[in-house]
Amino acid sequence: MTWSLASYTVGGSEGFGVLREDGTLVEPAELNRWPTAMDLLEDWSAAQPLLRDLDIANAPAVDYDALLPPLRWPRKVICAGVNYRKHMREMGGEIPESGWRPFFFLKAPTTSVIGPRDPIVISDPARARYDWEAELAVVIGVKGKNIDTERAWFHAAAYCVCNDITARGYHRRDVTPAEAFRYDWFAAKSAEGSLPLGPGLTPAFLVPDPQDLRLRLWVNGELQQDESTADMVCSVAELIAAASEVVTLEPGDVIATGTPSGVGAGRGLYLRGGDVVRVTIDGLGTLENTVKEN
Ligand code: MG
Repeated sequence: MTWSLASYTVGGSEGFGVLREDGTLVEPAELNRWPTAMDLLEDWSAAQPLLRDLDIANAPAVDYDALLPPLRWPRKVICAGVNYRKHMREMGGEIPESGWRPFFFLKAPTTSVIGPRDPIVISDPARARYDWEAELAVVIGVKGKNIDTERAWFHAAAYCVCNDITARGYHRRDVTPAEAFRYDWFAAKSAEGSLPLGPGLTPAFLVPDPQDLRLRLWVNGELQQDESTADMVCSVAELIAAASEVVTLEPGDVIATGTPSGVGAGRGLYLRGGDVVRVTIDGLGTLENTVKEN
C-alpha cells in the first residue's frame, strides 16, 4: 500500500500524519517523536527504518480541517528548466544531441509554496498569462555536495506532486540593454502562491522506479498533460547530481524535475479565475487547486 506523510491543521493547531491511499489520515504513535515533517526529514537516517515498519492499517484516524503544504517550509525550491523531450519540442526546439547540461532556477519557498487544496491567487492574468506545469518533485533527506549520480538515491527521501505555475507574460522582457538581461525568471516563476505542493511526501522506498511514473494534469476536467517520467532528458538522479554541483543539498530541499508536454503556452491557453487545476502522479496522489483572481 502506498501512502504519504501529510501535514494538516485542526482547530487552529497543526500536526502531521500518514495520508493513506483511501483518503483517510492516520497518526501512528511512532511519529510523535518529531514535531513536524521537517524535523523528521532532518532526522532521515533514523526515521527511514521506522517508517518502513509503520503499522498504517491499524493506526488511529485523525480528523482534520485542511491539508497544509507537506513541508513548511522547504529549505530551497530548485526547479529544473526544460527537461522533457516533447515539452522542448512544443516550446519550439530540440534537446541538443550532445553537450546538454541541466539548468535550474529557484522559487522563494515560504511565499511560493501552497497546500494541495489551496487556491491559486492570481492578478492581472491578461498580462501575466499564467500557465500550468505538472511536475514530479523529489525531496532531499541527506545533505550532500558534489553528489555522484550513482549515489543520488541515498540523498532522496521522498517524492511528491507539484505544479510550477508560470507567468509566461513576465518571462521575456521587451526592453533590455543586452541579451544577458533578457529574461526575468523571478517574476515568471516565483509569484506568490505559484507552487502547489503535496498532497504528502511519499517515501522514496515506496516508489519502485521514479522514471516510470504517469503524470496527468486537467484544467476544468479537460486532460492537458499525460506523460511518463520516462520522457525526462535528465533523470531524477542526474538532476540531484547536477544541482549539488552548484549548492549543498540539505534535508527539506525540494527539486522540481521539469514538466512534460501539454502546457498551455504552445496553444495560447492560460489560467483564469474559477479554473480548477488537478494534477495527479500515480501512486503519489493529487493536487486540486482553484484559481482565484484578486
Ligand atoms: Mg517547470
